[in-house]
Amino acid sequence: MPSLERFVYAFGPGRADGSAAMRDVLGGKGAGLAEMANLGLPVPPGFTLSAKLCLRYLDDGTFPDELREEVGRHMKYVEQTTERRFGDPARPLLVSVRSGAAVSMPGMMETILNLGLNDETVEGLIAGSGNPAFAYDSYRRFVMMYGDVVFDLGKEPFEEVLDAVKRRRKVPRGIDLPPDDLKALVREYKAIVQARCGVPFPDHPSEQLWGAIEAVFKSWRTRRAIDYRRIHGIPDDMGTAVNIVAMVYGNMGEDCGTGVAFTRDCRTGERALNGDFLTNAQGEDVVSGARTPDSIAKMKRGKFAKIYRELDGMAEKLERHFKDVQDIEFTFEHGRLFILQTRRAQRTGLAAVRVAVEMVAEALITEDEAVQRVPPQDLDQVFHPMVDPQASVTVVAKGLPASPGAAIGEAVFDADVAEALAKKGHKVILVRPETSPEDFHGIVAAQAVVTARGGMTSHAAIVARGMGKTCVVGAKDLDVDPAAGRFRANGRVVKQGQILTVDGTTGRIILGAAKLVQPKIGAHYEQLMRWADARRRLRVRTNADTPADAIRARAFGAEGIGLCRTEHMFFEGNRITAMREMIVAPDEAGRRRALAQLLPMQRADFEGIFEAMVGYPVTIRLLDPPLHEFLPHTKEELAGLAKAMKLPLRRLTALVDGLVEANPMLGHRGCRLGITYPEITEMQARAIFEAACRVVARGKQAVVEVMIPLVAVAEELRRQAAIVRRVAQEVFHAEGRAVPYLVGTMIELPRAALTADDIAREAEFFSFGTNDLTQTTFGLSRDDAGRFLPFYVETGILKDDPFQVLDQDGVGRLIELAVKLGRGTRHDLKVGICGEHGGEPSSVKFCHHAGLNYVSCSPFRVPIARLAAAQAALEEAGIINRTKATV
Ligand code: PEP
Ligand code: MG
Repeated sequence: MPSLERFVYAFGPGRADGSAAMRDVLGGKGAGLAEMANLGLPVPPGFTLSAKLCLRYLDDGTFPDELREEVGRHMKYVEQTTERRFGDPARPLLVSVRSGAAVSMPGMMETILNLGLNDETVEGLIAGSGNPAFAYDSYRRFVMMYGDVVFDLGKEPFEEVLDAVKRRRKVPRGIDLPPDDLKALVREYKAIVQARCGVPFPDHPSEQLWGAIEAVFKSWRTRRAIDYRRIHGIPDDMGTAVNIVAMVYGNMGEDCGTGVAFTRDCRTGERALNGDFLTNAQGEDVVSGARTPDSIAKMKRGKFAKIYRELDGMAEKLERHFKDVQDIEFTFEHGRLFILQTRRAQRTGLAAVRVAVEMVAEALITEDEAVQRVPPQDLDQVFHPMVDPQASVTVVAKGLPASPGAAIGEAVFDADVAEALAKKGHKVILVRPETSPEDFHGIVAAQAVVTARGGMTSHAAIVARGMGKTCVVGAKDLDVDPAAGRFRANGRVVKQGQILTVDGTTGRIILGAAKLVQPKIGAHYEQLMRWADARRRLRVRTNADTPADAIRARAFGAEGIGLCRTEHMFFEGNRITAMREMIVAPDEAGRRRALAQLLPMQRADFEGIFEAMVGYPVTIRLLDPPLHEFLPHTKEELAGLAKAMKLPLRRLTALVDGLVEANPMLGHRGCRLGITYPEITEMQARAIFEAACRVVARGKQAVVEVMIPLVAVAEELRRQAAIVRRVAQEVFHAEGRAVPYLVGTMIELPRAALTADDIAREAEFFSFGTNDLTQTTFGLSRDDAGRFLPFYVETGILKDDPFQVLDQDGVGRLIELAVKLGRGTRHDLKVGICGEHGGEPSSVKFCHHAGLNYVSCSPFRVPIARLAAAQAALEEAGIINRTKATV
């Protein structure tokens, strides 16, 4: 009995069995073709085999009985529409076979063109085109594509043979070979299949067709495809559809051509049809780069003017229909235009913003939709120069894209050299195995920073991101030898002075100076952000350590500071010496001497920050120096410090050795420092309150929040808070004025999260330090994770790097628990996040749903967080993006 389920859906001029709504069944390509046919656009006739069939075939290994008959019937429809016959030697119908899942998925079989060719039908193609070279070139390409994807031989064996013939004939392209050579190539290609697979190449068109259909379905379960799905969270039970479409030829003569058109400029967002085309060419020629295509603007005048007008009209129709920018494949055959595919066009962040805003003005979409349209992460590109997407580049290595943008400069391997060269006007790229505070001046001097080790929260990454400086970290393939002034990577050696381009948006390290482009921000961006701000509930603060950072962050829309890392204030200039003196001081008196030097520096910085953030809350975290980042390492540093402290070098070395920790990330840091040396907390509290009083004395408002780091036990917080409150009273008494303030804590250890009810008795606010909370929940070191985490992500053990994207299942649960426990004790507890996740869109959305009051992130990420927060609010309100544009 025939099943009631339908497996095959036809489309063609003026009709289709399916529509864009049937993406699950027809896949993206098939749904787009059906929708275009329904709209009356000229798509070549064809049919789609349902994606549902794919899984059934893969599970059973066979097709349903009635399928052959159904496919046969649909082939008849295509034959009638094209007035050709499949396998007919006189007027052969040839088809393309293309995969197409609901989500575009590299790793699956893509396309076989010209299916249906054999030694007989090729004669019909010659007769019809009058062009034997075209016919044999199409035949040769077909056998190669078939051998590659159906017989799984790859392209190499075929390309080797082709290259040999091209060399012998001294021609650059296959199509330049004489027809007899192309004919001989077809024979040779078939012999390769026979020799390697032990079966003859199938000559019968219907055998070819079924072989291709099976190959498309099987490609759903190739290793590559499975891995891709796992990494991108695509379900395995979707399956892929197969599209069988009548071939139309852009390579049958000079009145034929093929191209790709975009309804708007995908780099700028400008509303203007644009793209590339080639005359006398087949689809893949446009993208392969073998020939340089022309801009379709050239079609406006001259013999293709009519085609251009038609294309322009269709593009407009498609865009209005799908309500998004379209990327359209077209072919014209003897002056007749066909649309072969339409899909949502990829675009830069700049274009995404402009398009979203302009489409509201054009009444295509609503303001809510515009806010939802722009991927928050893409706003990154709005502020940074970027490598021209059109530029061809030589990538020498890849790492983690720690801080976006692009920069060009000479490779240098030492911070002092970087600074010295920069002073002379050179632009430099600092390349290090990893960075530490001693490299800070080098980072400041450099255009960009590259490290071989380290993850997204390594020193280099955080410092560079805070400064909005391009940075790539964890470029594993780099073997950096600072002493020799060079690095090796992937068989290349790059020496000091050689020019590099660092692409911090993608993680690429590029040889030479790539072309950079500077995106312009303007009214479109401002408009989009106004809409976003009106919709979000989460406040967005910034992590800023200096007045300059604070001012920059205000310009990005920060509504306060969520984390001021006070130890970062000592990276600059000679401050590090005073900081080191404090750390290595052998006794309290020595420590107090060093602290007395630090006090005015801190106070001045705090004043600057309160001024920059006037009226907005400023959360200042007490010292949390991972000691190893501050200890002197080299002989010169030790000697310099010994001199400053008037200590014998030997004695100082012994003191430093005594401070070395086996595991500094879990060592004497955070509040443990203030617990053991209360004078540090005293000095910092004094600096904070004196600064606040001075600002208030100038008639401005300072909103002070003092934050105690790395608390595990409520008693730690109680003791530290007592010191802060005591010093506050002392300062207020001395200054004759009081400033309101809160004392709170970071929740960055699992024990703190688990006992948050107890901690909230003392804490007036919580801020989740998700860098440490991730580190301690996973039990993996932030600094060493770069060595193996990428492998975990590549192999699918982890979906994302948990230092970049909040691990909602583990760390997220601790956050939810701590919020609940904390607010159980103190119902109005203010809760925020200040780990790096505070600027990552999916993590921001999580924070919205977890009921946090604010997120805090590096200045450049503030706009991203604002937009992500607005999208979370819209999502929660059930407003969904109604575009069909994903087709
Ligand atoms: C954190 O741990 O998330 C945090 C913000 O503090 P730091 O990165 O300075 O340890
Ligand atoms: Mg921390």
